Amino acid sequence: MLIVMEHSATDYEVEQVKTAVHTMGLEAEPIPGSERTAIGVLGNQGYVEDATIRNLPGVREVIHVSKPYKLVSRDFHPQPTLVQVGSVTVGDDAEPVVMAGPCSVESEEQMMASAQAVKEAGADILRGGAFKPRTGPHTFQGLGVDGLKLLRQAGDEYDMPVVTEVMRIGQLDDVCCYADVLQIGARNMQNFDLLKEVGKLDYPVLLKRGMSATIEEFLAAAEYILAEGNSRLILCERGIRTFERATRNTLDLSVVPLIRQLSHLPIIVDPSHATGVRSLVPIMAKAALVAGAHGLMIEVHHAPEQALCDGAQSLDGAEFNQLMGELNGLQNYLVSKKD
Ligand code: PEP
Ligand code: MN
Repeated sequence: MLIVMEHSATDYEVEQVKTAVHTMGLEAEPIPGSERTAIGVLGNQGYVEDATIRNLPGVREVIHVSKPYKLVSRDFHPQPTLVQVGSVTVGDDAEPVVMAGPCSVESEEQMMASAQAVKEAGADILRGGAFKPRTGPHTFQGLGVDGLKLLRQAGDEYDMPVVTEVMRIGQLDDVCCYADVLQIGARNMQNFDLLKEVGKLDYPVLLKRGMSATIEEFLAAAEYILAEGNSRLILCERGIRTFERATRNTLDLSVVPLIRQLSHLPIIVDPSHATGVRSLVPIMAKAALVAGAHGLMIEVHHAPEQALCDGAQSLDGAEFNQLMGELNGLQNYLVSKKD
């Protein structure tokens, strides 16, 4: 429920409303705004009888929020959230963040060479999977903790924060030990126990959209994390499953402006998993920036033809370097058009 106060409401009237909400056993979260004062009501598990509140002095209207998410919504939090990862800021008005690196950590040599390539091209955050959610059990499953160590080593060597996937609660201690951002993959978007656990941490989280998740389900999953207290959350569109098989998934770019309307959380795009096709990655990366994405996640391997995972969608160092140049040019153009 959202309580909208009159423009002229006094501090005393706002306090009275908060007290009334507390008396009902619920939490009241003031939402500062230049146009209006609003109070978000949290803690209810169903419809709240609003007669007492509606009749209090200074109350303009009471809006019942029927969506399964509140804390992630713009209604409850009009100001955009900026997520800080080391010295990198992700969100509105920050430069688009680029997370890049191989699908999987394979070896020290591979990790170092890929990290050097993405660093020299200007990436902000290094990626690399150590725990891999592979479709079949007979494929490379990742190096586990050894992979985490190699990722950290490469991140330290090239001075980049690192992002990597955590697949289950039992891996959290290890992943938190080596990573700067915890990635929840598409296949785990609705692993509610995992979402709750990362919600209890003071750690940046990257939540990827499930391959068949609606936008409402995506935001409701995000709500699990915020509801536990962690709002250092970045959303990621990575393509959804449609009837089309020519691409690995279908990049749902409209989700970017839509989520920017619905939520205060930053949203980035992963054109690598969305297309599965190397030649399509650069143009869709640019399209994502035009759509308003706060950043990109791109798979880059120093030798994609040798990659143990997702080589067909990975850019090599030169291709990524060229893309970064084009993204910079595009970003300058977009900023000039904004002013
Ligand atoms: C990944 O980023 O390595 C990955 C497995 O992505 P997704 O969860 O989007 O499939
Ligand atoms: Mn991958």
